[in-house]
Amino acid sequence: MRFYLEENLEKLARWLRFLGYSAYTIKGKIELKKIPPDGVFITTSRKWYEKLNKLGLQAFIVPRHDFDIQLCSVIKHFGLRTELTLNLCAYCSNPLLGVDKEKVKERIPLKVYEKATDFTLCPNCGAIFWKGSHFNRMKRRLEKILKKC
Ligand SMILES: [Zn+2]
Repeated sequence: MRFYLEENLEKLARWLRFLGYSAYTIKGKIELKKIPPDGVFITTSRKWYEKLNKLGLQAFIVPRHDFDIQLCSVIKHFGLRTELTLNLCAYCSNPLLGVDKEKVKERIPLKVYEKATDFTLCPNCGAIFWKGSHFNRMKRRLEKILKKC
């Protein structure tokens, strides 16, 4: 399942990627030609939601400001897995590759080099990721969010 989201839903897109789902934000003004027919479009606009429904495209509407409800309702509605797979780039949704931390030593803080594990690299945008203390915080955050709807 591939998700396409309004630009202002970047945080939601990032969390969908953390869960292993491809998610792309549509930059700038929303136009029909920017929405691929094979995906699900997530919007805060009732106008766009109704327009796409009429055209037989898959759309889902979320509240504009409540991030927790946004994520929780998308997970529930589409029956998404709730495991933090962290296998897609948080920024561009490209699949990540495992990388030896020696190879990225120059590009990460010393503390991270010493303590973190499971280093991955995005071959598309060059971003580097790792499992550190933030991973447990993310897990706890997700558990809290899942109780909200
Ligand atoms: Zn990337």
